[in-house]
Amino acid sequence: MQSVVGDLKREVTQLPMPTVGVLALQGAFNAHAQALRQLNVDVREVRLPQDLDGVDGVVLPGGESTTMSQLLLTSGVFEVLTQRIEDGLPVMGTCAGLILLAKRVLDARPDQVSCSVLDVTVRRNGYGRQIDSFEADIAVTGLETPLTAVFIRAPIIEEVGSGVEVIAQHNGVPVAVASQNVLAASFHPELTNDVRFHELFLHMISSGSIVRNDR
Ligand code: GLN
Repeated sequence: MQSVVGDLKREVTQLPMPTVGVLALQGAFNAHAQALRQLNVDVREVRLPQDLDGVDGVVLPGGESTTMSQLLLTSGVFEVLTQRIEDGLPVMGTCAGLILLAKRVLDARPDQVSCSVLDVTVRRNGYGRQIDSFEADIAVTGLETPLTAVFIRAPIIEEVGSGVEVIAQHNGVPVAVASQNVLAASFHPELTNDVRFHELFLHMISSGSIVRNDR
């Protein structure tokens, strides 16, 4: 299997400033917008389907996946977003954003929806009560030094499909994964001053796809 690293590390030639949508219906979208602006990205807050017009990538933030799911449906963003991702739009989902991308969600509210574009099984609030919020320094494929990952009532990734690459683990459990045009983490990379995870996403956008071969 071709590693994502080669692609993520590919030299980014002088591309025009990308426009990245940040789903801004609920949750920690501001922190994502700030991290992206630090990386000279043109940030577009996404609240309506037409806000996705012309974006080069989209971020689904952490927050409450049940609430976001409901707002995605009532705003009409859900259908357009899912279609765009299926058509190859690069997407990064963090925490609740990961839940919104996963094909299988355990302990979901029965009416909650997911874009179902990432072949993983996640369990909402899967780290349990005692350690429902914690920080850990984790090694991430493609980053030279560890990243401080902030977990807040995070989903746990229980299964990873064969086409999905695990790019970070904590205590042997996958916490960040990548698959074609999808990058996702169970933690919040936007809540520290370290913007390297967002940088990986920008590499993915500029490469077109994070996986080169046809799996
Ligand atoms: N527990 C939340 C959910 O299920 C996710 C928490 C987060 O995004 N920090 O949606």
